[in-house]
Amino acid sequence: MLKIPMTTPLVELDGDEMTRILWAQIKEELICPFVELRTEYYDLGLPNRDATGDQVTVDAAEAIRKWGVGVKCATITPNAQRMEEYHLHQMWRSPNGTIRAILDGTTFRTPIPCPGLRAYVPTWTKPITVARHTYGDLYKDTEFRIEGPGKAELLFTGADGAVRRETVYDFEGAGVLQGCFNKDSSIEKFARSCFAYAFSVKQDLWFSAKDTIMKIYDGQFKETFQRIYDEEYREAFEANGLRYFYTLIDDAVARIIRSSGGMVWALKNYDGDVMSDMISTAFGSLAMMTSVLVSADGCFEYEAAHGTVTQHYYRHLQGEKTSTNPVATIYAWTGALRKRGELDGNAALVSFADKLDKAVMDTIADGIVTGDLAALMDGHPAIADSETFLAAIREHLEKIL
Ligand code: NAP
Ligand code: MG
Repeated sequence: MLKIPMTTPLVELDGDEMTRILWAQIKEELICPFVELRTEYYDLGLPNRDATGDQVTVDAAEAIRKWGVGVKCATITPNAQRMEEYHLHQMWRSPNGTIRAILDGTTFRTPIPCPGLRAYVPTWTKPITVARHTYGDLYKDTEFRIEGPGKAELLFTGADGAVRRETVYDFEGAGVLQGCFNKDSSIEKFARSCFAYAFSVKQDLWFSAKDTIMKIYDGQFKETFQRIYDEEYREAFEANGLRYFYTLIDDAVARIIRSSGGMVWALKNYDGDVMSDMISTAFGSLAMMTSVLVSADGCFEYEAAHGTVTQHYYRHLQGEKTSTNPVATIYAWTGALRKRGELDGNAALVSFADKLDKAVMDTIADGIVTGDLAALMDGHPAIADSETFLAAIREHLEKIL
């Protein structure tokens, strides 16, 4: 069989622990036998991030800017325990944080619809995509503890020296204080990427915030979304029977629960962090969730939403076979190959990505699953270890191809 050629390389970001093991197996079993795979490889495994002073993470993000499409394996975000475990020179920052800051975009997370998998919310028959703004707010805050009485003020000194000052609170005793910010330019990029994404998947876009309380801060988000919709997207949305809908976040939560799904739900940074975990859990499993970071200038980074599955890795190191779910990582690869194919006009590559997705679903429909999924399915599906599961997917893929 002739392998499918690629004209442009994908930016490949390798990672850590169990997902690094799966990464190599997915390439070897499911991609390289069928595709003349071209990648620009960056090893974001923690030992190499440490050896390069984390420069490899910055280089990988710049490469995604250059080539347009990347695929990333899960990576360790170091903490004190990891410093010891890996004898690190520094407690390197989260690679996802570094990449997000360079690409300045929006993260879209969507559950992978799967035959036989029970959603906790039975009315959700279509996936819900959470679009999370990944810049600013509480994630770039300045906060401190107040030890005793005193006046807290918000002070802004303009570039021209003009000062604006307002009292936040006259403390009569100890307490806590926090300041945070966002920028018009980032809010606009966030809004544009949400409209562009919702339009590309032909789904309604919802945005919710709390502008009744934060009239200026959240008000700025609300106005920006409305303005960009009216000026740039309304015509195209209406022509396709799509709509943009703003509502307060508490109202949105109630409506989402009662809905049948099938929308893109845009949320500010913190709201998106919390709600994406709620949505993924309600649909079943973190290992059945895709995640793509889209920059405003149209670069795409695909990854799984889960981590490096450390507990499984330690068992793997003991020589045990584990039943780690590779589906989200496979979907990260197919998402990236499909996007590369679309951008390059490579129909064979797009079709291969679709077929590999289908092979995964066919395997699960046949009742061959990993342990995490077995618990969520009716009947008694056979629990396969990761290698057996990947081999079953390959069999299905060969049949489809
Ligand atoms: P995790 O790797 O997502 O795993 C948490 C638990 O969820 C696992 O122990 C496992 O439960 C279950 N799980 C997650 N993915 C699974 C899969 N594919 N198949 C089967 N079960 C799966 O999160 P964590 O243990 O909190 O973090 C581990 C490391 O990952 C940390 O160093 C963290 O920094 C990193 N991390 C990276 C990313 C990223 O790169 N995007 C995201 C989050 C965390 P059972 O043990 O019960 O089977
Ligand atoms: Mg979170």
